[in-house]
Amino acid sequence: MDVIHHGAKDGVTGSCHELVLDFSCSVLIDCGLFQGNESRDLTIEFDVSNIKALVVTHCHVDHIGRIPWLLAAGFRGPIYCTQASAALLPIVLEDALKVHFSSRRMFDAIKPLLSKQIVPVNYNVKQVVPLNSDLPFSIRFQQAGHILGSAYVECFLPNGEVGVFSGDLGPSNTPLLPDPIPPKFADWLVIESTYGSKVHEDIASRRVRLKQVLEKSLQDGGAILIPAFSIGRTQELLFDLEQLIYELPKSEVARIPVVLDSPLANKFTESYREFRSLWSKEAKEKIINGRHPLDFEQLVTINSHKKHLALVNRIKHSAEPVIVIAASGMLTGGRIVDYMKALLADERTDVLLVGYQAKGTPGRDLFKGRPIVEFNDESVEVKAQIHKLNGYSAHADANELTDFVSKIDGLKKVRLIHGEPKSQLKLKERLLEVLSNVDIELACEVPNIMN
Ligand SMILES: [Zn+2]
Repeated sequence: MDVIHHGAKDGVTGSCHELVLDFSCSVLIDCGLFQGNESRDLTIEFDVSNIKALVVTHCHVDHIGRIPWLLAAGFRGPIYCTQASAALLPIVLEDALKVHFSSRRMFDAIKPLLSKQIVPVNYNVKQVVPLNSDLPFSIRFQQAGHILGSAYVECFLPNGEVGVFSGDLGPSNTPLLPDPIPPKFADWLVIESTYGSKVHEDIASRRVRLKQVLEKSLQDGGAILIPAFSIGRTQELLFDLEQLIYELPKSEVARIPVVLDSPLANKFTESYREFRSLWSKEAKEKIINGRHPLDFEQLVTINSHKKHLALVNRIKHSAEPVIVIAASGMLTGGRIVDYMKALLADERTDVLLVGYQAKGTPGRDLFKGRPIVEFNDESVEVKAQIHKLNGYSAHADANELTDFVSKIDGLKKVRLIHGEPKSQLKLKERLLEVLSNVDIELACEVPNIMN
């Protein structure tokens, strides 16, 4: 079997892997956008006539963002994904493409194709993939615990082997989604290595640290601003806030309104509620006990732009205590920027940074404690208190990745993808300590074929 990497070979974006089954027959795993420093022309540069199916591991843009260009290149095969991903996929693509007039037209053109080509598949069910040839091939999705609907995919190959693509794996011990459980057996594994060189701060204690930061922030009033990605992290935050309110019914934390000011995050939060059968045991128990982890009393959702602007203005003049969650997570755009421009110069404002802040973003400048931050050429003075809160990563760390791999029986080969070269190398070193007789390759080093 051969695997060709069309992206995420030596970085963390543009995930796209071609599983070659014979000279005229391939299956694509993900088709993601290149972002940030890895941005490049989005036109599909490989021959799509051999691609018989696309398998989507989850709905982050770096795993699905190039699907419109795949369709534009002529791909008309089935797009397999989990039920929840099937619901999220059109929402994510529409949002990603609405920025420019030309790409918005592209979305309008592909929307009917998407509804025809998407095939939702349940977790833990073997799905036969017809290949227009005699090659028997099937796939099976398993919970990856990364975001709603995320999966790793087991591939049952024509030669009898089992190959696994990890997609993105979530961390263990997050309260909302279940932990990923490794497959019992695989001949080979292609696995992400985003945090192959890092170990996360204890996720189990993140709620306690959130409480400490909130209590401190509330002492002087003012707004608490949380830039967050719309999918995954926002819902994890809401989940933790509801728990704090439940634990401390008489505290100030229990009285403060929580505003989710993002139409996209609101849509995703609805999907999280709709697919609560996919939640962890702990989260489901809350529902049984009459709780509403993602829809509690203090939660206010804002969709219209007019109401958004009115709220920014009101908070600026009243300095009333309020928690605002809005995208984008690195302050590169979106509604959070309006709050930052209006409130960063007020020393009563608190900003909670819960996600990774990439180089060159305003979020990074805040993270580094710079006194002035640039937003679209507007310089804003920073007098607000900046807090860094770890524990909200959506990715497994080096220990968890190692644990995942070491529990799989029968492995002969592991290919590390979706990570900086340094992360791939560090993870290889760790894996070598616990695995014997397994060939470990770095995607950044090998030629584009896995034999
Ligand atoms: Zn992801």
